[in-house]
Amino acid sequence: MRAWILLGIVAIGAGCSVHSRPAPATWAVAIHGGAGVIERASMNRETEAAYRAALSGALEAAAKVLREGRPALDAVESAIRLMEDDPLFNAGRGAVFTAAGRNELDASIMEGATLNAGAAASVTRARHPITLARTVMQKSPHVMLVGDGADSFAEQQGLEIVDPSFFFTERRWQELEKTLKERGDPIPARPAGAPKPQGAIIPEIPSEHEFGTVGVVALDSLGNLAAGTSTGGTSGKRWGRVGDSPIIGAGTYASNQSCAVSGTGVGEFFIRLTVAREICALVQYKNFGIQQAADEVIQKRLTALNGSGGVIVASPKGEIAWSFNTPGMYRASMAADRPARISIFKDEP
Ligand code: ASP
Repeated sequence: MRAWILLGIVAIGAGCSVHSRPAPATWAVAIHGGAGVIERASMNRETEAAYRAALSGALEAAAKVLREGRPALDAVESAIRLMEDDPLFNAGRGAVFTAAGRNELDASIMEGATLNAGAAASVTRARHPITLARTVMQKSPHVMLVGDGADSFAEQQGLEIVDPSFFFTERRWQELEKTLKERGDPIPARPAGAPKPQGAIIPEIPSEHEFGTVGVVALDSLGNLAAGTSTGGTSGKRWGRVGDSPIIGAGTYASNQSCAVSGTGVGEFFIRLTVAREICALVQYKNFGIQQAADEVIQKRLTALNGSGGVIVASPKGEIAWSFNTPGMYRASMAADRPARISIFKDEP
């Protein structure tokens, strides 16, 4: 009898090791560079190639970190830093302007293992708002800092500080002029330190292209998730407007219990629906898969409110999903066992 019981235990033990769930894919990452009216017909070959190259570079930067076995948080930060420096994206250098002609930057970051999070909103001098968000998380007792206070904190912490004109790009300035003209609002003076006006740069880019927020979700080889988002917000924003990107639960969320999400779109809707947390809640409490959860929130709930935008999602198993209800979203993904996939238009996988 005893022998039988012993045998049973050994068999169960063996069964566990042989049939237990495979370890998570060793790492996985997805990035986005904004969602909006991004259509083949209105994008020339060179612009498309430039976006694909930029997405590929940022994806590879994150993948390199993860391949080396470093934390998801490092992968998120390093890819976003690259995109913040790239004038193609509405984050850091290349950010859109407020109606007053300023670049006010927002970012947030979250760690899935601890639920630690950090954010900065309306900053004008920290070169890398995503690094500021991470520093708020790791070096302050707070989750979110705004405006001058956030910039002074960045300075105190020894982060790179730049003149606000560093963020200026002609393309975004012309976009602002166009938005303000359409609205019948006055056009502010060019910011101090901005280069001399150049000729028409963006006639082929419709104003719906203002989106261009960047975000990254990653799973590292220790099984930890992280998410981050960085943006200049919406062109012509007024009155200290802050969108979803620096708001934990709206534009960014990560929990090892469910998933990691970064969003892009009209922030007001993402805040009202707490999009990022809602997707993770469906995964955590209703057992939705990440694609199903993302589609439920973006295709159904966001669309029902007439909101627009999209999300990228990573799961603790290394699955990647994205969902958007706009004609396009700059997006890319890669995993230890899956090659890079770079997509822009709706008809791409
Ligand atoms: N979600 C950002 C905001 O509302 C904008 C964007 O994603 O393009 O500030």
